[in-house]
Amino acid sequence: MASLINTPSNTPIRERLGLRPIINVSGTMTTLGASIMVPEAIKAMAEIAPQFVEIDDLQRAASATIARSTGAEAGLVTGSAAGGIVMAVAAVMTGDKLLAIDRLPLDTTGLKSEIILQHGHNVGYGNSIDQAIRLAGGTPIFAGSVSATQAYQLDEAINANTAAGIYVVAHSTISYGMLTLPEFAAICHAKGIPVIVDAASEYDFRRFIAEGADLVIYSGHKFLGGPTSGLVAGRKGLVRSCYLQNRGVARGMKAGKETIAGVMAALDAWEIRDHDGIRAKESAALELWQQTLAGRPGIAAKINPDPTANPLDRLEIRVSAKSGFTAYGLATTLASGSPPIMVRGHQAERGVFWLDPCNLHPGEANVVATRLAEIFDAERPANAMATPTKSTAGILKWPD
Ligand SMILES: *Cc1c(COP(=O)(O)O)cnc(C)c1O
Repeated sequence: MASLINTPSNTPIRERLGLRPIINVSGTMTTLGASIMVPEAIKAMAEIAPQFVEIDDLQRAASATIARSTGAEAGLVTGSAAGGIVMAVAAVMTGDKLLAIDRLPLDTTGLKSEIILQHGHNVGYGNSIDQAIRLAGGTPIFAGSVSATQAYQLDEAINANTAAGIYVVAHSTISYGMLTLPEFAAICHAKGIPVIVDAASEYDFRRFIAEGADLVIYSGHKFLGGPTSGLVAGRKGLVRSCYLQNRGVARGMKAGKETIAGVMAALDAWEIRDHDGIRAKESAALELWQQTLAGRPGIAAKINPDPTANPLDRLEIRVSAKSGFTAYGLATTLASGSPPIMVRGHQAERGVFWLDPCNLHPGEANVVATRLAEIFDAERPANAMATPTKSTAGILKWPD
């Protein structure tokens, strides 16, 4: 049985590289190293690292593996899901025209270049969907308003210059008022344009192809537990057009041999992964944390399902002033202890954060519970009532 959670944390490499130990209860965050890579992927990467390979052949084999795992006709591995989105946009514009591929992104003469998406789907994931479109030379066209899209607003905005529609599946999209993927795909297909789905952070590798997507992009380093990478799956001709972008705008987004082999091994491992066993361990962690917080004044902790229906629950912690903390102050207190505990805090300004159990090493659930109890039993720290800042001062000082 493939193991996910039995990898040791805090091995000596952290010290060699000068990295402090951290506990990740925020989810599959690229900025925290995304996920615990499955041992099968690590082994395949080490095995292929010293070999020479013909990359077209390796990617051909990866295509077959991705097709098997997704139900799509073909697939490829690229450097990241963000890169996969850029490739997909370039592909629907150029098709297999090699000179057009050379000319992107600024010269789109003779190509359809509008890419349509629902306004509430223009999410950020480090950068944003609209920048991914522009990076490939496309022009983003937003259908509807931020909070609602009606069918006619998509339908009538598609014109002779529209190359494709992009549909985003993510917790960060507006979660109401949007067209569903089957509705979106039906309108696009009736107008003869393909549908690209950004499913970077989704668990179900078959659903979106089944719902009518022509190209789907997944992240290899999120739920899959593979190396830093993106997977593109879809119709064979479109996947080939994506692959050809390695000669163009996607050259800097390419996957090397170790990444491709690692993704293939992770997909093999996915099929025999003990998904139910992992979920049971996650549920035990959530219940432990919920019990630890029960009866604490000003704290309401409840177990939430994932907003895009991934098979994953999280502990939602609502923090009111009676606790002596703001949500941000409590999250900051957890992050400034030893070891730092990084929570899912992107909505702290709303008085809420989550503990995500999908990236725990053995023993860490208990460390989190103990720390929570200690924090509530101690005096409130100076920053307990801090409010969130959106400061960029830290990153602008990097590398100091
Ligand atoms: C994480 C994410 C991405 C980017 O994925 P990377 O593989 O880290 O480039 C794109 N879109 C969504 C919705 C994501 O969640």
